[in-house]
Amino acid sequence: MTHVSTDTEISEELVRKFDKLGPRYTSYPTADRFHTQFTETTYRGYLDQRCARTDNPPLSIYIHLPFCESLCYFCACNKIITKDHARVGEYLRYLDKEMDLVASRIGKDRKTVQLHLGGGTPTFFSDDELRQLMAMVRKHFEFTPDAELGVEIDPRTVQPHTLSMLAELGFNRNSFGVQDFDPAVQQAVNRIQPLSMVEQAVLESRKSKFESINADLIYGLPKQTLESFSRTLDNLIRVSPDRIALYNYAHLPGRFKAQRLIVDSDLPSAELRLQIFLMSMRRLLDAGYVYIGLDHFSKPDDELNKARLGKTLHRNFQGYTTRSECDLIGLGVSAISKVGNSYSQAVRTVSAYYQHLDAGRLPIEKGFELSQDDVLRRDIIMTLMCSAPVEVETINREYGIDFNTYFEAELLRLKPYEEAGLITIDASAIRVTPKGRLFVRASGMVFDKYLGQPTTSTYSKLI
Ligand code: SF4
Repeated sequence: MTHVSTDTEISEELVRKFDKLGPRYTSYPTADRFHTQFTETTYRGYLDQRCARTDNPPLSIYIHLPFCESLCYFCACNKIITKDHARVGEYLRYLDKEMDLVASRIGKDRKTVQLHLGGGTPTFFSDDELRQLMAMVRKHFEFTPDAELGVEIDPRTVQPHTLSMLAELGFNRNSFGVQDFDPAVQQAVNRIQPLSMVEQAVLESRKSKFESINADLIYGLPKQTLESFSRTLDNLIRVSPDRIALYNYAHLPGRFKAQRLIVDSDLPSAELRLQIFLMSMRRLLDAGYVYIGLDHFSKPDDELNKARLGKTLHRNFQGYTTRSECDLIGLGVSAISKVGNSYSQAVRTVSAYYQHLDAGRLPIEKGFELSQDDVLRRDIIMTLMCSAPVEVETINREYGIDFNTYFEAELLRLKPYEEAGLITIDASAIRVTPKGRLFVRASGMVFDKYLGQPTTSTYSKLI
C-alpha cells in the first residue's frame, strides 16, 4: 500500500473510500445552480445597494480574455480559437463599456485589492493592448498600494519583454500553464512547449521581480505514465515555482467538444491515475512544498501557506486566496461576479456580450441570490475547504442558530468521516485532521443542500 505522510497524510484505502464525485466549491451554491430568473436588473439592484452605503468591502476584479491561438485538447475553458489578433481591439472597446457601467454603480471610495487576468490566453494580447487594458482598469478602479495583480501566462505566446512590461504595469503574480513536459503527452493534447520555454519565462519573471509564480500541472492526460510524470515533476521542481496546482484531468467529451480529439485508449487507467497522484503528492512534499488544499501546493514562505497557518485562507473563483470579504467584479464573457449575497455570470459568447453592451445593459445571463441559509452553509463549506475549524459558538452567535439542532442531520452524516479520522467533532468545533485535508471536498458536500437536486453539471473526482 502506498502511504504518504509528511505534512498531510493519505492512503490509497482512504482515497478509494472517500474520493467522491463533487463540486470544487469555488462558490456556494456552485455555478451549476445559477439560473436565468436572476437578470441584469437583479444584478443592478445589488450594485445599487452597494452604491447607497459607505461601509462596503474592497473589490477583487477578474477579467476574462477569451482568445487563444490554438486548441489544447483537454481544455474546458470558455475560449475562442483564432489567429486573428485584430479581434482584440473590439473586445477591449466593449470591456471599457462594461467597466464604465459597473464602475459608475459600485459606490464611491472603493479600493481594489486584487486583479486577475484569466482566459483564454491573456498573452494573446499584444504588449500595447495589455497596456491599454490596464490604463482602462486604472481609469475605472483605484488600487491599494499592496494590491495583488495576477496574470495567466501561456509560455508559448509570451515574448521575453512581455514579462518585464507586465511587471511595469503593476503585475506581481503570474501563473504558467505547464500541464506536462513530456513530448508524447504534449503531442497528444496539442500543446507543444518545451521545458526551455518555461524555464526562460520563469527566469524572466524572477528578473522582473514577480513576487509569486505559479505553475499548473495536469495529471490523467493521454500518454502519461508514472515514469513520464515523474520526469515532469523533476523538471518542475528544478524550475522551482512558488506555487504548484496539480489538477486532475476530467475527461468529459460529451460536454467539452475539444476533448473529443483525445484518443480514449491513450488515457491512463483509474488505477494509474491514483498512482500518479500519490507519487506526485509525495514528490512535492519531499521537495519542500506544503499542501494548501484540494490541488494546491506552495513553498512554506509563500503567503498562501502563511494565510493557511494564520487561518486567513479563503476560496474564490480563482481557487485559494489570501484576500477575504471582497466584492468580486467579473468582467468579460462568462465572468462571474459576487456582490453582496449574490452571484452573477456574464453571457458566454462575444456576440451576446457585445449586443448587451450596445444596448447599454450589463451582460448578465444568470445568477443566484443567496438566502441566509445559503450564506451560513457557504461559510461552513468554505471554512472546511480551507481546513480551518468550524467554530460552533461563532456560528451560533453570527447566525442566531443552535448549531447542533440546525445541523443535526449533517452531523450524523459526518460520522463516517469522524470514524475514519478525517475530522474531529466536539462541542466547540468541527476540525479537519491532517489525514482529512485531502478530503475536505467530501466533508463540505455534507453541508451542500443542493446536491440531491438535478444539475446540468458533471462533477469530477479529486483523483
Ligand atoms: S488550455 Fe488555455 S491556452 Fe489551451 S485552449 Fe484552453 S484556454 Fe486556451
